[in-house]
Amino acid sequence: CGIVGYVGDNKSLEVLLGGLKRLEYRGYDSAGVAVLDEAGQIGTRKRAGKLQVLVDDLEDRPLGNGGTGIGHTRWATHGGPTDRNAHPHLSADGKLALIHNGIIENFADLKQELLERGAEFTSETDTEVAALLVGEAYARTGDLTAALREVVGRLHGAFTLLVMHEDRPGEVVGARRNSPLVIGLGDGENFLGSDVAAFVEYTRRAVAIGQDQIVTIRPDSVVVTDFDGKSVETDEFEIAWDA
Ligand code: GLU
Repeated sequence: CGIVGYVGDNKSLEVLLGGLKRLEYRGYDSAGVAVLDEAGQIGTRKRAGKLQVLVDDLEDRPLGNGGTGIGHTRWATHGGPTDRNAHPHLSADGKLALIHNGIIENFADLKQELLERGAEFTSETDTEVAALLVGEAYARTGDLTAALREVVGRLHGAFTLLVMHEDRPGEVVGARRNSPLVIGLGDGENFLGSDVAAFVEYTRRAVAIGQDQIVTIRPDSVVVTDFDGKSVETDEFEIAWDA
């Protein structure tokens, strides 16, 4: 239901939890984060219930606070509101983390295809097929943006997706169809959010992403393309309302 992504200095957890807090007004049943720690490993933590349950858990069992991360609040559509069904979901090798808002309508067909290849599922969500498929595509291509582009071409329905990979520190890639995604432009850091509330504490400079577009953020660059890989003109706007 709520999405936030961050690349920049070593404060991703702080940005993600602050963003999820400001997105709470939209309603949700679970919350989770993935961060790439200082040693270059993905750590995830996800909990059913209020954001505070996740925050308390992170205090008891801390994750690294590196410069790359994604955060999610879930409003369950497929699979009950449990810790396991909460996002992020991981690729088979555990190196890629993915979050999703919306519904993947053809997930059952994709799940069947993955099961026939021997894939194992750890949740009842529609989302996990996307994590497994992007993981496979990345393993083949070594290009996170191309991997996400390949997979969104196979998905039907509504989605905002964010992915990050252990081998790609300082990179978060997002895609959207029938579901919102906005870029926040920082100085040596960049943000993604399902709405500007996700990052308004850090920047007032935003860029809307159009239908069927993909964005790759790094600390010093933002690249937007369409689902065919063609580059896209973007318009920056100022966030006018009070945080
Ligand atoms: N369909 C996904 C799920 O049930 C995402 C729901 C959402 O938008 O939060 O896990």
